[in-house]
Amino acid sequence: MKHALALDIGGTKIAAAIVSETGALIQRAQCPTLPAEGAEAVLGRAIALGRRVMSASPASAPVAAGVGTGGQVDVADGHIIYATPLLPRWSGLPLRQRLEEAWGLPVQVENDVNAAGLGESTHGAGRGQRHLLCVAVGTGIGGAIVLDGRIYHGATGLAGHLGHLSIDAIRGRRCGCGGIGCVEMYASGPAIEAAWVKQVGPRRTRQWLACEPKEVTVAKIAALAAGADEGSAPARQLLGQAGGYLGQAIASLLNVLDPQLVVIGGGVAQAGEPFFAGIRQAVRERAMPSVQQTPIVPAALGPDAALVGAAMAAFQRLQAGI
Ligand SMILES: [Zn+2]
Repeated sequence: MKHALALDIGGTKIAAAIVSETGALIQRAQCPTLPAEGAEAVLGRAIALGRRVMSASPASAPVAAGVGTGGQVDVADGHIIYATPLLPRWSGLPLRQRLEEAWGLPVQVENDVNAAGLGESTHGAGRGQRHLLCVAVGTGIGGAIVLDGRIYHGATGLAGHLGHLSIDAIRGRRCGCGGIGCVEMYASGPAIEAAWVKQVGPRRTRQWLACEPKEVTVAKIAALAAGADEGSAPARQLLGQAGGYLGQAIASLLNVLDPQLVVIGGGVAQAGEPFFAGIRQAVRERAMPSVQQTPIVPAALGPDAALVGAAMAAFQRLQAGI
């Protein structure tokens, strides 16, 4: 049985694990990212964490390493093209080269959402499916496209950024990307929380969610929606509406990509059935007939998806002999 070292570098924490070819996580460790200390300090922590997990692991020595990181990645040489604001000064870093020098292993670097998509497709909700669309809904909306069992990166590594698909280019809200009506402005966590405050108002927010408007979270709305208390019906309606917006974008993507399955992950996916019902209804109304019944399911691996997928990307690179 072969093993790979896997790292998931996010804005808050760095997670590491030794992962088997069958997707089992054997040894884990994590540390804070502390991105304000700069890219070199983050890189140093990532290298040390990888060494720590390798030396503690009872499994055979890893044959390769896979790394999921925030930002846009040049997968050909493993450098960071553009870093997310959560990892300032990460842009331009030759991450693969630096990690290969430090660990003495072949390293594959992937965007973290892409890594999570590959993890779901190989060992999660999409197990056994070759063509998969994975949508991550949290503070923003990201995505990954898996075609023929491999991540589709596009020409510049940007593929999968479906949060900026417009669902209302005429009267829509202006987005930070410069676009109008991007789905992220309607179905991300902050968008759902803002819609709640706008539609329900401060008085009923205090009454139904027992918090101030600025403390509203999707998790609180989802908990209310799951019960039968006063306010549960408007909570379900609001989550269904947000799901409907996301479903409009997914319907367009189904027409283009025709995947076997759509997997929805990220914190907002915990909003549960009303959110998923909204997505499925919009897809039935808007997608072309052949793809209207494409299964749309919750992600299965949770926060481990990127670790599993990063390891699988490393095994795939070894297999390809690149
Ligand atoms: Zn946008």
